[in-house]
This record gives sequence, structure tokens and C-alpha cells, in this order.
Amino acid sequence: MDGYENGGSYKSFSPSVRKMLTKKIPIFPELTTLLTGHGNIKSYLYRLGLTHNRMCPCEEEEQTVDHLIFKCKKLRNQRNEMIRQTKNTGGNWPATNETLINNYQIFL
Ligand SMILES: [Zn+2]
Repeated sequence: MDGYENGGSYKSFSPSVRKMLTKKIPIFPELTTLLTGHGNIKSYLYRLGLTHNRMCPCEEEEQTVDHLIFKCKKLRNQRNEMIRQTKNTGGNWPATNETLINNYQIFL
């Protein structure tokens, strides 16, 4: 009756996912900073001479945009949610920054 009886296919979920995306749910609020590479990212602040430490707090490597989006263990939960949503809406992971911008305006 509501389209969910068959285990919820992509098609039956699609409208609700789209609706959810347009509601601007802040799953990954730092994404604007990440996608522009400007802001509170240590490699950026380091280039500007605003910090002496460019390492990520996870202590695995330099804190860069790619590190935060694709590698940082401290953002694992947010990343998993973004991957889940990307795949649910027919996208591929890893997504390009452009894809993230187009698909995740909720974060901007
Ligand atoms: Zn990290």
C-alpha cells in the first residue's frame, strides 16, 4: 500500500531520500570546508602560517581535504552515512568532489 511491502526497493525509497536530502539534514556539516579546502583544515591553516601542526587529530597523516573525506578514522560514521546515501541514490563511491557538491547540497 505504501510501497514498502516488498522490502523497500530503491524506487520506493527514492522519493523519501530525495525529500530527506532537500531537508538539509546536517550529516556532514563540515563538507563546505572540505570541498573548498579552505577553512578550518590544518593543511590550509599551515599554509597560511596560522598553525605549526598540520597533522590531523587522528594522528595518521596531514589533515587535508582528501584525508578528511576518504580516510580519517574520526569521521568514519559520517563517511559511512555519506557512502550509504550516495549508493542509495545511485551514485558511486568514492565520489568526486563535484559529485559531492551536486548531490549533497544539504551540506553547503
Ligand atoms: Zn584524520
